[in-house]
Amino acid sequence: MGDTPTIKRRGLLLVLSSPSGAGKTTIARRLIDADPDISMSVSVTTRKPRPGEVDGRDYNFIEADAFKRMADENELIEWAQVFGNLYGTPRTPVEAAIERGQDVLFDIDWQGAQQLSEKMKHDVVRVFILPPSADSLEQRLRSRAQDPDDVVRRRMDAAADEISHWPEYDYVIVNSDLPTSMEGLTAILAAERLRRDRLNGLTAFVREMQSHL
Ligand code: 5GP
Repeated sequence: MGDTPTIKRRGLLLVLSSPSGAGKTTIARRLIDADPDISMSVSVTTRKPRPGEVDGRDYNFIEADAFKRMADENELIEWAQVFGNLYGTPRTPVEAAIERGQDVLFDIDWQGAQQLSEKMKHDVVRVFILPPSADSLEQRLRSRAQDPDDVVRRRMDAAADEISHWPEYDYVIVNSDLPTSMEGLTAILAAERLRRDRLNGLTAFVREMQSHL
């Protein structure tokens, strides 16, 4: 067998949504660490950094007027208000990645997933992560912080709201076991990368082959 040919392709936009407490952040980190062809989209937000968060890595933390300017000047592909703060995805890095054939991973909510699908329908692959049960979600939300019951209740309500959007996604992973969820996500990514309509180098590749047949 000869060398494996490289066929040029468009990068894809892998959107991961879930209620908080379903394990999405862990899944996203594992994927980014394991696969050099996908990188995380860094959102801008007006939320203040939490302890341990790094500006430029977790988010670009900006003021509300800077956010408004970016939104007005069409520099954000999508943006939404979540829990009273503004979050948005800067356009330029995403478009550049697609052209380079590099995939981008998004940890955004259902509002962002909807906007991204409307604007870049053919490039978006949407995956929803569900917890295995309501109990496991509640335990995760309680163990995260020593929050009073009403805070946990509010988070459970927010989770119920996010979960109601599951039918808008292309794939759903029930995250009972991390390795199994990773296997599922890796399989989705592998198959989506092979879609004919993303392989924009295919016509030239096949033509060249045909010319030698
Ligand atoms: P957190 O403040 O906990 O980091 O994120 C809160 C929620 O905002 C999460 O559900 C997260 O997926 C969502 N989010 C983060 N960045 C963006 C973004 O750029 N756009 C949208 N639409 N949602 C985002």
